[in-house]
Amino acid sequence: MTEHSIDSVRDGLKRKEFSAVEFTRRAIEFAERENPKTNAYLMLSPERALAAAGRVDEKIAAGEDPGPLGGVPVAVKDVILTKGIRTTCGSKLLANYIPPYDATAVERIEAAGGVIIGKTNCDEFAMGSSNENSAFGPVRNPVAPDRVPGGSSGGSAAVVAQGTAVVSLGSDTGGSIRQPASFCGIVGVTPTYGRVSRYGLVAFASSLDHIGPFARNVKDAATLLEVIAGRDPLDSTSAEAPVGNLAGAGTGDVRGMKLGVPVEYMKHATGETAELISQGIESFRRLGCEVREISLPATDYAIATYYIIATAEASSNLARYDGVRYTFRSAKSDTLAGMYQNTRDEGFGAEVKRRIMLGTYVLSHGYYDAYYLKAQKVRALIARDFTRAFGNVDAVIAPVSPFPAFRLGEKVDDPMAMYLSDIYTITGSLAGIPCMSVPCGNTSEGLPVGMQILCNHFDESKMFRLASAFERR
Ligand code: GLN
Repeated sequence: MTEHSIDSVRDGLKRKEFSAVEFTRRAIEFAERENPKTNAYLMLSPERALAAAGRVDEKIAAGEDPGPLGGVPVAVKDVILTKGIRTTCGSKLLANYIPPYDATAVERIEAAGGVIIGKTNCDEFAMGSSNENSAFGPVRNPVAPDRVPGGSSGGSAAVVAQGTAVVSLGSDTGGSIRQPASFCGIVGVTPTYGRVSRYGLVAFASSLDHIGPFARNVKDAATLLEVIAGRDPLDSTSAEAPVGNLAGAGTGDVRGMKLGVPVEYMKHATGETAELISQGIESFRRLGCEVREISLPATDYAIATYYIIATAEASSNLARYDGVRYTFRSAKSDTLAGMYQNTRDEGFGAEVKRRIMLGTYVLSHGYYDAYYLKAQKVRALIARDFTRAFGNVDAVIAPVSPFPAFRLGEKVDDPMAMYLSDIYTITGSLAGIPCMSVPCGNTSEGLPVGMQILCNHFDESKMFRLASAFERR
């Protein structure tokens, strides 16, 4: 199970080494056996998986193409809705919530022959960088079990690293795909904002939320993205821009491509992470790329800007969890106001409450101009930095995280230290550009470090070309 790629599953089916149903059974048994080591799956969905696999086998028997994900086990982060299958967002508040519809990404995966095998653990409502904010316990990093897998999509990264899924879906608001991919030694992609429909993604910060793939190689990530990408009438922010052949984008030369390394990023990079990134940059040079220093001057304000905009949007989005809708209601409810209060007090964890309060504060009369409005202006400056950079370079390369996977418990009591781990990923999110993490090497302790590649809006093909060349280096 641990060695399979999308291509190898397709080949196995074609050569009749296994049927999709047999392969799915094996995948589920393996996931059941391995999951106690990581707590990465909150839930397996064998019935739905076997039904999907059955449809793939029928197609093959009828001589039809089962689709680009035919028979491939796909795990889905538990902030993405799956009809009839519990979707918790890592929160006690949604512990028993069963969605009445599928997210568009989920629907497209199954239409392409993919087999949804389970839902993965994550930080509550995707708020966090370590997966320790889940109401259902932390996830262990399969590479180093005493360490975090990163967050908030820690479960989705862990299942792919562990081999209990071939690919998975995560969500990224400020780094939640790239950072766990880096910590677990796999590929993680945050597409351009609007590239993938957010229909059925439980909203955290709507102007920053993205769905994106995790995979063990660049081509698989590109294939999964190609399947889920493209305009969706159910999400008015999804883009009309043609998706193109992303799965095939990895071939081709990168000689002569111009890459920018932001000085503002490298000054924060230290230790073995900085060394590995420098070696990665050298590899790009050896591949024939021209590497130059660039400046993204608004970078210093990125974390402050993100934690104003993201919390403002979260405070508004999370207002809907009132104890009337979405299952959980406090038992201590004498008055309506008391019921709202007790439900939210008992249902939300500490980090979610912290963000609702921060967000409500920055949006409140008297502080709106000073914080929220100013943050929106700085966001425009951050985006402008990238637009200017892409006038001179094809891509920006950078670290993903200032440090590799840290120990469980190491940063839980210090929210500011936790927020600082987002320093390199948040700028790309605020600009809405495509960015990804690709494995760059391991520290002397064997901890993976990812290289980040950022490209201009809707330029995923170029990003995959660079990532593939880097992967083959
Ligand atoms: N770590 C960031 C946060 O806590 C990013 C989370 C995300 O991308 N969902 O908000």
